[in-house]
Order: sequence, then structure tokens, then C-alpha cells
Amino acid sequence: MNVISALLAICVGAAAGLGLLVLDDLRWEARNRVSKCTTCGEQHPRHTPHR
Ligand SMILES: [Zn+2]
Repeated sequence: MNVISALLAICVGAAAGLGLLVLDDLRWEARNRVSKCTTCGEQHPRHTPHR
């Protein structure tokens, strides 16, 4: 029974870690989504340096 509890704890921890990773990735995707620039009017990722 103790071993099963330990395995369950490891599974929960791994799932939580994976969820955090996925959330972070989604946030990163949203931040780097290509959108219309208000500076030059063209479509490119935000925070792209203008030449
Ligand atoms: Zn621009």
C-alpha cells in the first residue's frame, strides 16, 4: 500500500509539472503570436525590433 501511495504521489507531481510546462508554453505562444503591429502596420511577432 505504501508503494502505491508513493507511485500515486509521483504521478500527481509529474502531472502537475507537465501542466505547468504546458501553461508556460501556451503563455509563450500567446505572447509571440503574430499580430498586426501598431508601429509599422505589418504583421510580425510583437517586440520585433524595427529596422
Ligand atoms: Zn512593426
